[in-house]
Amino acid sequence: MTTKIAIVMAMQAEADPLIENLRFCHRPDLVPPGLPFRFYTTVYGQQDLLLVTSGKDPRFQVDNVATVPAALMAYQAIERCAPSLLINCGTAGGIKAAGAMIGDVYLSKDKICFHHRRIPIPGFWEYGVGSYPVIDSAAIAAALGLKRGIISTGDSLDLCGEDLSLIEQHGAIVKDMEAAAIAWVCYTCKVPMLAVKSITDLIDKAAPTADQFLDNLALASSNLQRQTVAILDFLQNNECDQL
Ligand code: SAH
Repeated sequence: MTTKIAIVMAMQAEADPLIENLRFCHRPDLVPPGLPFRFYTTVYGQQDLLLVTSGKDPRFQVDNVATVPAALMAYQAIERCAPSLLINCGTAGGIKAAGAMIGDVYLSKDKICFHHRRIPIPGFWEYGVGSYPVIDSAAIAAALGLKRGIISTGDSLDLCGEDLSLIEQHGAIVKDMEAAAIAWVCYTCKVPMLAVKSITDLIDKAAPTADQFLDNLALASSNLQRQTVAILDFLQNNECDQL
């Protein structure tokens, strides 16, 4: 039986190796009017895949990274193909003290949180943190030898005062700029979600995050591509009762 899977990725440079390897076809005809996103489709074995990337900001000519475009991309992907699983693939920062290394590929584990939504009012605090559910990735991680960790999302690439302490309070090892926004959409629309994050930089290391990110983007994107295909293979060959 065919399965529909949506893949949502913020940066074109992260997505290009996967687009090439799985021979995705660019589908401008699928993009809702006015949106900057890029849609791609392919059939991989028994899987119908829809890949959405964020496209470029017309004024600044950079990818539309971070939470606002990510949520809209996730919603558009779900509306377009009603997937049985949404996978958010991307790069991320990792915590060295918790064992993360450059080029590691992490699978989401337990929950995805926000670290930049601080609303110190009862109930709203927990709402701000989010703690959205993800699928149980233990079997995939064991089969492919991948690490797993809690992901925390914020709208900044750098790290300011409160961020690190909240990331630690969430028990997170992985820091990105999209996963929690996408997870909110999946939780709201009742679509199972998995995040796959390849580490470009270590947030508890002295070197500036942006320099580490640019140095390691190619390696991380190549590892991300390889492991994403391995995950699709695993899903194809194993009954996943959560989907
Ligand atoms: N200068 C970069 C900026 C990319 S923004 C450029 O070439 O355009 C960073 C992207 O990588 C986001 O999509 C984010 O999810 C991810 N990312 C990588 N390392 C991160 C970190 N330490 N903190 C937050 N997001 C990170």
